[in-house]
Amino acid sequence: MTPYASLDPRQRILMGPGPSTVPNRILRALGSPTLGHLDPQYIGYMDETCQMMRDVFGTTNPLTFPVSGTGMAGMEAVMVNLIEPGDEVIVCINGVFGGRMKDNMQRCGATVHTVEVPWGKTISEEAIAEAVAKHPRATMVGIVHAETSTGALQSLPEISQVVHDAGMLFAVDAVTSMGGHELKVDDWQIDAIYSGTQKCLSCPPGLSPVSFSPAAVEKMDARKTPVQSWYLDVSMLRNYYTGGGASSGARAYHHTAPINMIYALREALMIVLEEGVDQRVARHHAVHLELRSGLEAMGLKYIPDCSLATLNCVATPQGVDEAAVRQRLLTEYDIEIGGGLGVFAGKAWRIGLMGFGATKRNVQTLLAALKDCLE
Ligand code: PLP
Repeated sequence: MTPYASLDPRQRILMGPGPSTVPNRILRALGSPTLGHLDPQYIGYMDETCQMMRDVFGTTNPLTFPVSGTGMAGMEAVMVNLIEPGDEVIVCINGVFGGRMKDNMQRCGATVHTVEVPWGKTISEEAIAEAVAKHPRATMVGIVHAETSTGALQSLPEISQVVHDAGMLFAVDAVTSMGGHELKVDDWQIDAIYSGTQKCLSCPPGLSPVSFSPAAVEKMDARKTPVQSWYLDVSMLRNYYTGGGASSGARAYHHTAPINMIYALREALMIVLEEGVDQRVARHHAVHLELRSGLEAMGLKYIPDCSLATLNCVATPQGVDEAAVRQRLLTEYDIEIGGGLGVFAGKAWRIGLMGFGATKRNVQTLLAALKDCLE
């Protein structure tokens, strides 16, 4: 006998900034028998997972794999491998996650130049052109595609062109866009990208899909100093995930891969590809419009410039206790939405429409529940 009861988590409707609700098909995949991390059957599943990641990212980059850890591990993997102490880099900040990129870059020993705009705004091509002209020694520009703290959707192709014209690498945070918004790694010439499993892929949290272009690999291979993180050193990780790399042969053990999470990600990516990436993006957009018109019909207002379909940042009406409303939604309706972050703390709700959760049914359920809470 123990004083503990068996797990019995409630069936919540997860409509916050992530995680999103995980479909049973993915939970079943997660519960499949654990194989050894060098078992040929498992290596086959892993290779398929990496290929499906390429398909969803829109890339042929050989170096595409899931980092063990959440989105922040992907962010660190990009920074720690592509930055050497003394490098100059540029980062765009318009919310929490650009700020975290900066922190990561500084911890890697870089001199970091920032392009900052008020929270919620997006970064213009002109601002990037000015920054790269002012800091010609910079080696990389980092930017967030979908800023989960504000709902800002950053357009990337024009900025990428400016960055490449200046001979720099382009690094992108796609944690809240992969599988929910248009994302074309090769067409948009993205050199390094990281995402997370728990948002628009509707997988549990725990892996970070990443991809590196040949130019990024060249930069890594030319390092004069070892990557200071042993766990996230891609020069070793790639031997395991891709069976190759500059340094050595096939499938070398680095760390024990999170086997069952890979199963889950494989299933999640399969679901994305079965639906079709473009169709999935269109579904997110359609339910976002439905949510938006429902909220606006109730008199609620979006944060200016919030245009993400996957994360809807809505101002809390004057005189309403935003935390109390979230609490009621959770306890009375089993619906989770998020509160504001940073400058929007206490002033906004963040409503996620991600992956499996981006449905008309969820939109209508939330609108009815929210109406009740605001009456
Ligand atoms: N980047 C963005 C845009 C995010 O929204 C998040 C998480 O919400 C992260 C990075 C960090 O991801 P994780 O919480 O999975 O470590």
